[in-house]
Amino acid sequence: MRQRLHDLELGVEVDEPLRRFKLAVVRGTPPRVHPVGRYRRRSYEHLDPRRAVCHRHGHRAPAVDCTCGFHAVSTIDGLERVTTVLADSVILDVELGGTVIEHERGVRAEEQAVLGVGFPDRCSWCSAAASLVVPGRLWRSACVGCSAHLARRALTRAEATAELGVDVSFVRAPAEPRRLRSWGIARAVGMTLLSIVVSVLALRSSAAATTVAISAVALATSAAITVAAARSRSARPHGDWFVAQCACVTLASLALRFVG
Ligand SMILES: [Zn+2]
Ligand SMILES: [Zn+2]
Repeated sequence: MRQRLHDLELGVEVDEPLRRFKLAVVRGTPPRVHPVGRYRRRSYEHLDPRRAVCHRHGHRAPAVDCTCGFHAVSTIDGLERVTTVLADSVILDVELGGTVIEHERGVRAEEQAVLGVGFPDRCSWCSAAASLVVPGRLWRSACVGCSAHLARRALTRAEATAELGVDVSFVRAPAEPRRLRSWGIARAVGMTLLSIVVSVLALRSSAAATTVAISAVALATSAAITVAAARSRSARPHGDWFVAQCACVTLASLALRFVG
């Protein structure tokens, strides 16, 4: 959400708390609520009201000429205009207070309290109506059928509320743009083709057995990642997998160049 709120800035002190929305993900056991974004930022202390801190400049947040503060928008539909919505995201219902800077598309605030966590109302596996939450590395919505099929612990809304400590609901969340997953799969296929080229070069140049073995392992890893990308329900892990594929190709190329 950072950077894309747009540039109309107006700092105001609010008397009445503002109810706003933002994206997050829920991870692990015990559950933690993490901000979304490309940086692996620390989880929110979602059980108590918090005061924003500027990690870049150390001043009081939010500052007019900075991007600090708790970011949020006024409607769930407004999330798509300020950030990329990935599947398995949850929507936080937050109450903002203190100094609030208004932007054209959202606000940055000094204080935030998480009132509720809205899981997508569609099953993460089959898109049917969801009524359960499946905890795990990433907490996801599920329908009764899929949760039985998965044979994993699933929580009712009340049980999830008890585990998270804030009200859990099922909400209509914006869908992940299809082009993200398509692009991730195409990129994974491209990297696997590159791995094939390196492996063929290793074989045709009568490279050392070590080099052939390295290129074979790199190719197998890259191919496995491509299958995983094609089967993934979200583009969320694609970035990390692309880095792994780049490392595979680089390793195989270096072996070809230096081991011979
Ligand atoms: Zn700042
Ligand atoms: Zn399902």
